[in-house]
Amino acid sequence: MTITDSKIIDGKQLAKTIQLEIAEEVESFVGKGGKQPNLAAVLVGDDGASRTYVNAKVAACKRCGFISTSIHLPSHISQEDLLAKVRELNADKDIDGIIVQLPLPDHIEVDLVTSEIDPAKDVDGFHPESIGKMNLGWDTYISATPFGITQMLKRYKIETEGKHCVVIGRSDIVGTPMSILMSRKGMDATVTCVHSRTKDLKSITKQADILIVAIGKAEFVTADMVKDGAVVIDVGIHRVEDSSAKKGFRLKGDVKFEEVAQKASMISPVPGGVGPMTITGLLINTLKAAKNKSCA
Ligand code: NAD
Repeated sequence: MTITDSKIIDGKQLAKTIQLEIAEEVESFVGKGGKQPNLAAVLVGDDGASRTYVNAKVAACKRCGFISTSIHLPSHISQEDLLAKVRELNADKDIDGIIVQLPLPDHIEVDLVTSEIDPAKDVDGFHPESIGKMNLGWDTYISATPFGITQMLKRYKIETEGKHCVVIGRSDIVGTPMSILMSRKGMDATVTCVHSRTKDLKSITKQADILIVAIGKAEFVTADMVKDGAVVIDVGIHRVEDSSAKKGFRLKGDVKFEEVAQKASMISPVPGGVGPMTITGLLINTLKAAKNKSCA
């Protein structure tokens, strides 16, 4: 059976549309005397995937009329020096948003770094203050991936109110904030968050009207785990070796796309699903940070 375009949640196309809107908003903001939003992206070490993500973020910034400031630091940088770099960016009046690309080398405590970022510039939404405000439903910067997914659901007019949403994964940056956001006013879903200690996972995922998968295991979710007509959002991204591919690998998600798509009413693909929407979430946050600063 072929998979019709009508069931694909095209994150790539949606990201293009929203990024055009952002570019227009930046133009109007600058036209009224505001300054171009400036996103500082800190990359530590030479991880290929991290470099790809940072390059994609820099390119998206340019498309939207932002300035992007790239800071590439060696993998052996000390924790103190990295924290000092973050403090320097916090104090830099030209910088509106700061992201430190994860993962960081093992000798660096991620929590210390994310907590060092000025909450006013925390466009990745990883600072405890941002997370606390999100939990309370206060205005804040929401972590880019869950934020991008909520935008995706809203723009595709996917009904969430009263639906049973199952989130696979409870990480600080995806699963947990996603579960909270889906249960909050505005999304109004009934949420179950499952994780590595959950028993009989399949019996729960099969109840999902909306299944959001952030397990970090390539093609883990198979058709027998999904209810007929469910909406499936695949957050995972993996480079799976494939000698027939030009680059020697193919990008796969956490969901076995071909078979799950037969059962789903709507499904986001990998690539071209959540990834571009994550970048878009980051851009929305950065524009908001620039506007907030101009009001301060
Ligand atoms: P993570 O490894 O931090 O978390 C994985 C979660 O899955 C954990 O909470 C764990 O409890 C749960 N889990 C593991 N095994 C399980 C099992 N057998 N049954 C049920 N739950 C299980 O990963 P993460 O940072 O949340 O990322 C998840 C995936 O999303 C990864 O592939 C990552 O690369 C991808 N990701 C993509 C984007 C994007 O923009 N597209 C952004 C962030 C993360």
